[in-house]
Amino acid sequence: MQIADIFRQKKTVLSLEVFPPKKTSSIDTIYTTLDDLQGLNPDFISVTYGAGGNAGDTSTCDIASVIKNKYGIEPLAHLTCVNYTKEEIDRILDLLQQKGIKNILALRGDINSDIQPKNEFCYASELITYIKERGGFHVSGACYPEGHIDSENLIADIHNLKSKVNAGAEHLISQLFFDNSYFYNFLEKAQIAGIRVPIEAGIMPVVNKAQIERMVTLCGASLPAKLTKMIQRFEYSPEALRDAGIAYAVEQIVDLISQGVDGIHLYTMNNSYIAKKIHASIAGLIQS
Ligand code: FAD
Repeated sequence: MQIADIFRQKKTVLSLEVFPPKKTSSIDTIYTTLDDLQGLNPDFISVTYGAGGNAGDTSTCDIASVIKNKYGIEPLAHLTCVNYTKEEIDRILDLLQQKGIKNILALRGDINSDIQPKNEFCYASELITYIKERGGFHVSGACYPEGHIDSENLIADIHNLKSKVNAGAEHLISQLFFDNSYFYNFLEKAQIAGIRVPIEAGIMPVVNKAQIERMVTLCGASLPAKLTKMIQRFEYSPEALRDAGIAYAVEQIVDLISQGVDGIHLYTMNNSYIAKKIHASIAGLIQS
């Protein structure tokens, strides 16, 4: 099923995100995680793709295929472009098509100073145009409630987001944020810009101080004082920080659903315990 059709059928969509295990872990670890996540009955599961320029890595496609064929859940395969040639992207698209994957989250990928970009795709909108011209895939895009870290300001970023939608993105997933007011302001600006596709709110539970500091440095999300205090208070007590992080994410999600958000995209970080705990608190709020 195409992702946009899921939004036509449901009032509040719930999706989960997983990533292929690092090279040092066995691929089987992801299947244990998926066994657990299946029980949460998500509307779709997205699988991240490396921006490192290794076009021969088929793990995203393999995991997406298992999500579809073993678990019967719709997969959304991420695909980055900045470090790939058109020929490499064609090979990846061929493989996705062979495996019956219909939904792609088209991304630029972060610019990495250690990797020389291929310069065949500079922005996600170019990848979206390329995929749509080829045909056969439903395409989603990423959006940034606080503005993308490279963008001049939020207005310029929203103009660029509109180009992605004009190029054919039919659904957007947001970067993580910890203060819902940024998301509501962003939705208003997106409306004014004429963006009418469903926009899912990306929620990442804070369960580890180092992990969240790394994410915030990478993506520039603001940490509200309430969250900073929480991290300071519990940073040396992993279980307490985990429980507080779950409670914080649940509070964000309850508010978002109350405000009529199109969907919640949970960055699970392959941690099914946390995803299950959050799901147990919000399952009754996810309306069909
Ligand atoms: P773009 O939409 O191309 O935007 C990048 C920047 O360029 C923005 O500042 C934008 O305003 C600007 N811009 C866009 N078009 C133009 C233009 N025509 N002229 C001038 N400026 C322009 N990374 C991974 O490596 N793998 C993943 O699986 C992955 N999954 C993600 C999932 C989600 C939901 C999100 C939010 C991010 C994900 N990322 C992933 C991170 C993402 O690759 C980075 O944030 C990257 O820096 C930007 O990708 P993009 O597709 O949003 O880029």
